[in-house]
Amino acid sequence: MMLDLREIINVPGGKVPFDMEMDLSQLHFDSVKEFLTPLHVEGEVVNRAGVLVLEAHLSADMTCVCARCLKEFPKHLALRTYAFLAQELQDEDNVDYYLLDNGFADMWEIAGTALVLNMDQRQLCKPGCKGLCPKCGKDLNEGPCDCGEDRDPRLAVLGQLLEKDE
Ligand SMILES: [Zn+2]
Ligand SMILES: [Zn+2]
Repeated sequence: MMLDLREIINVPGGKVPFDMEMDLSQLHFDSVKEFLTPLHVEGEVVNRAGVLVLEAHLSADMTCVCARCLKEFPKHLALRTYAFLAQELQDEDNVDYYLLDNGFADMWEIAGTALVLNMDQRQLCKPGCKGLCPKCGKDLNEGPCDCGEDRDPRLAVLGQLLEKDE
């Protein structure tokens, strides 16, 4: 989706608001089972003293997979992103920016990149999820399993050290 910015390129103070939805079905993230809504992208591009600055709020609803217990759970994604837009390459500039295409900004590239950069690689169903027992596969959030006797040897050593201290 291309956003027409031609009317503000040379107009300091000029603004172009946008409010659009983007299909996310082609994007895949390990932590996301599926997106339940399109990506809602809302914000504006402002010409700040000759520099085009894009400010956007991205949101979507999705079903995530917990990295520890593998349970699926709903999550609302919401993030804010900024980008600089330039008409031509400015290689002396260290700031990241997107090139305009004949005065148009490629919103899919900008929003899609922001999403990829900000999406958590690992999603947890809740803070401190206990995960699954590596031996029997039981969901330890529901209570301890019967593997307690020979648990992780490193933990056993730690337990002995702690006992010695007492
Ligand atoms: Zn979990
Ligand atoms: Zn177990």
